[in-house]
Amino acid sequence: MYAVKANPSPELITLLWESGITHFDVASIAEVRLVAKAAPGATLCFMHPVKAEEAIAEAYFDHGVRTFSLDTIEELDKIVRATRGAEDLTLCVRLRVSSEHSKLSLASKFGAAPGETKDLLIAVRQVADALGICFHVGSQAMTPDAYAQAMERVRAAIVEAGVTVDVVDVGGGFPSSYPGMEPPPLERYFETIHRAFESLPVSYSAELWCEPGRALCAEYSSLVVRVERRRGDELYINDGAYGALFDAAHVGWRFPVMLLREPESNAKMVPFSFYGPTCDDLDHMAGPFLLPADVRAGDYIEIGMLGAYGCAMRTGFNGFGEAPAHDVTDEPMVSLYIELDEPAAMPSNVVTL
Ligand SMILES: *Cc1c(COP(=O)(O)O)cnc(C)c1O
Repeated sequence: MYAVKANPSPELITLLWESGITHFDVASIAEVRLVAKAAPGATLCFMHPVKAEEAIAEAYFDHGVRTFSLDTIEELDKIVRATRGAEDLTLCVRLRVSSEHSKLSLASKFGAAPGETKDLLIAVRQVADALGICFHVGSQAMTPDAYAQAMERVRAAIVEAGVTVDVVDVGGGFPSSYPGMEPPPLERYFETIHRAFESLPVSYSAELWCEPGRALCAEYSSLVVRVERRRGDELYINDGAYGALFDAAHVGWRFPVMLLREPESNAKMVPFSFYGPTCDDLDHMAGPFLLPADVRAGDYIEIGMLGAYGCAMRTGFNGFGEAPAHDVTDEPMVSLYIELDEPAAMPSNVVTL
């Protein structure tokens, strides 16, 4: 599945659908409607454990959604009511697992704790046509061990409840590459997960699912900003904390940057921090972002790897936020999908407007 919240661009959803992604993880009725339109025929899975009852009903009756996640008995009752006791549901019980290996935690909000899973699994088994177990190790999991540990929680839950499990869904969290955060190759994650799955006490026909968001879309887009002012090693740029750079400001995430100037600058690379355009001190990105020492007002900078959780979180605060989108033909600034020993796939960064 592709987790739509990471980047809900209809063009991306259509591209993924045409590239062979058949299932989409949606979390709100607006995401359900969006994917139903952008990828008609796709299978939608409603994987938010706390849903509005009318959203469940519309998803089930109008959009053919049959898969839902939950982490409480109350949510199970809600799903049963909203679907009028449907007998064709795949219900995935979300377990609470550690986020210790991830850069962004998803550990405290959702997921049944160890003492709560037995009764819940037994109750869901009685209602569901297919029973699943899901979890999310947190976003940008920097080691496959995160999944190995979570799979041990799955094993314990299955053994304790003694139920037949038809689906194990390892969620999202698959990493991308950012400055200072180079994860192991994705193959290592897949090997670890497959090994753990093969040894679980599940039905012989059980399915293994995952729900990546970031790993499928981080490389999808860059942001081009203009330097409006320079003050020492601080650059005032025209996007920021309330725009596509939420993570750069609020969680100190670093992104690769490149000065777009012709002819190229030969100045040595030095660290800069950024200020965004709004009238608010919070609109600050510490970086450090490495750029040539002679960067100045009027220069354009490409900020890469913003396909995940970039444009998805943009607001219009203070009148900033409008940004036209352009299709470009160059490679992403960094990639987990290009062999490392290939020559740099970035001969020029010409943008075709
Ligand atoms: C956010 C989310 C994802 C995607 O997470 P990534 O870290 O972007 O891979 C998948 N599943 C659920 C339930 C989520 O909330």
